[in-house]
Amino acid sequence: MSFVTHDVTNQPPPLADHDLWAWNRPLRDALAHHLPGYETARLAAMGVEFGRADMLEHARLANVHPPRLKTHDRFGHRIDQVEFHPSYHALMASALRHGLHGAPWAKGAGAHVERAAAFMLFTELEPSVLCPVSMSYAVTPALRANAGITQAWMPKIVASDYDPRFVPFERKSGVTLGMGMTEKQGGSDVRSNTTRAERDGADAWGERYRITGHKWFFSAPMCDAHLVLAQASGGLSCFFVPRILPDGSVNALRVQRLKDKLGNHANASSEVEFHDAIGWRVGDEGRGVPQILAMGALTRLDCALGTAGLMRAALTLALHHTAHRSAFGRRLVEQPLMKNVLADLALESEAATALALRVAVTIDRTEYPGHPEREHEAVLRRVLTPIAKFWICKRGSAFGQEAMECLGGNGYVEEHGEGVMARIYREMPLNSIWEGAANIMALDLLRALRSADVAPALERELAAARGIHPGFDRLAAALPARIDGVTDEIAARALARDVALLMQASLLARHAPRAVAEAFCRARLAQGSDVFGTLPADLPFDALIERARGR
Ligand SMILES: Cc1cc2nc3c(=O)[nH]c(=O)nc-3n(C[C@H](O)[C@H](O)[C@H](O)COP(=O)(O)OP(=O)(O)OC[C@H]3O[C@@H](n4cnc5c(N)ncnc54)[C@H](O)[C@@H]3O)c2cc1C
Repeated sequence: MSFVTHDVTNQPPPLADHDLWAWNRPLRDALAHHLPGYETARLAAMGVEFGRADMLEHARLANVHPPRLKTHDRFGHRIDQVEFHPSYHALMASALRHGLHGAPWAKGAGAHVERAAAFMLFTELEPSVLCPVSMSYAVTPALRANAGITQAWMPKIVASDYDPRFVPFERKSGVTLGMGMTEKQGGSDVRSNTTRAERDGADAWGERYRITGHKWFFSAPMCDAHLVLAQASGGLSCFFVPRILPDGSVNALRVQRLKDKLGNHANASSEVEFHDAIGWRVGDEGRGVPQILAMGALTRLDCALGTAGLMRAALTLALHHTAHRSAFGRRLVEQPLMKNVLADLALESEAATALALRVAVTIDRTEYPGHPEREHEAVLRRVLTPIAKFWICKRGSAFGQEAMECLGGNGYVEEHGEGVMARIYREMPLNSIWEGAANIMALDLLRALRSADVAPALERELAAARGIHPGFDRLAAALPARIDGVTDEIAARALARDVALLMQASLLARHAPRAVAEAFCRARLAQGSDVFGTLPADLPFDALIERARGR
């Protein structure tokens, strides 16, 4: 007698071998707008690779087999190393091979934008390995302040080889870099850092110090070097601290333990102590915070890009599931209320993609000399980075929850969709917290407003969308006075939100179909809804959903 109790029906097929680039029409349109005629074959190839079934399996394995700290070898020697599953290394190798780390610094115009698009695509595959990848991308502007180290390390920072061996950097074909600011007593207010740095001479890498203290969050400790903040006699300063010293000895950095985190499981986040660790100063004594923030500004961009990528991944899962699952006699995607939810998620996802990519465009136009709009772009780079980080990341968790709900109970189950939806949901809050939580971004916006003439730059950006919707025109018209008048911190989040929404609307007006831009204005600027699926009933839902499917 067979032991079959029932047939399995009404469950979607697995979503694998899915072409991320071909499906992502909003990303393709945004890129074509900013870089007309740009060769996108590399991104197309990445879209295929990052959606491939074997890569999805690597992502799953790297998360269900999290990194393990090995403090000692079997003979009892201290080694302070982290052991990763082979799938982690496979993902890292892919990210570096495709130049998501330091590669754009050795390339020409367009490379930062291409890298940003690639970063979003890779996030759909697996976000947590991108932590060291992002830091390795971001380190270059900060590191430039030390010519000796830049000269020695830059060729390895831009190399596309992933070399995880724990050996001196000269013997490696490629390196990764991290950063350590946060201590137990303060992460946002890093001026409270207690780690000390004592002068220890000078050499080809500049002023050398001995560093003693701790870092409470120190992600990716297997990076080859980290930028670290410590108190020198002249104040809080930034130091380059390699894991292995030029003489081949291991630097005095102890990895105390790995954090047990809500998500981000494939990435190792550690607590460390420095015991007379050797570090070389980067920038001036007392200028540590602005120095390391040259790095932090780019990792903040990656938080926005990463969240846009996670939104896209969650939306794709929701579209896939609702296209195959039926309830009450119709496929879910055909149910009017589900259409409203999916279309609303699609609008949010496209707006996030547009804003995050626009920030990456400012990097491209300010880093490569000779761009005619360099000054304008520099102002936008300064002001849009905290705004995009604040708003996109803040929307991420609500987005992840709604997309999860589209899958019903399956969405909440680790096994379903290879656990991708649950993984996305756990990752979302992280992008909002690290690299400066939402309030810190809003406060940084106030600093940006004090440091540059922001109102005319934003006015120029918004001009493209004038007349698209009365709500847009009203909010845009009021903006210069609000910017001039903003002195009170209590209003900073509201201002950041409104600039983000205006920028998103103006970008959609430039590179999305008019129906998308209008729908966004009606949904986000006119009715101010905070729940997805409450779009006005006369919007072109089918068209919005079809666009999200890549058509
Ligand atoms: C998984 C993970 C990995 C990390 N990896 C690293 C790493 O590699 N290197 C590193 O240096 N750090 C790392 N961090 C630390 C992270 O950057 C900090 O946690 C973050 O900056 C917040 O600092 P905090 O935890 O000390 O919180 P706090 O600074 O105590 O902030 C708590 C809350 O208070 C708010 N707040 C603070 N000041 C103000 C104010 N003036 N006005 C209003 N609100 C305010 C903040 O926005 C936040 O919401 C990591 C964190 C996580 C979770």
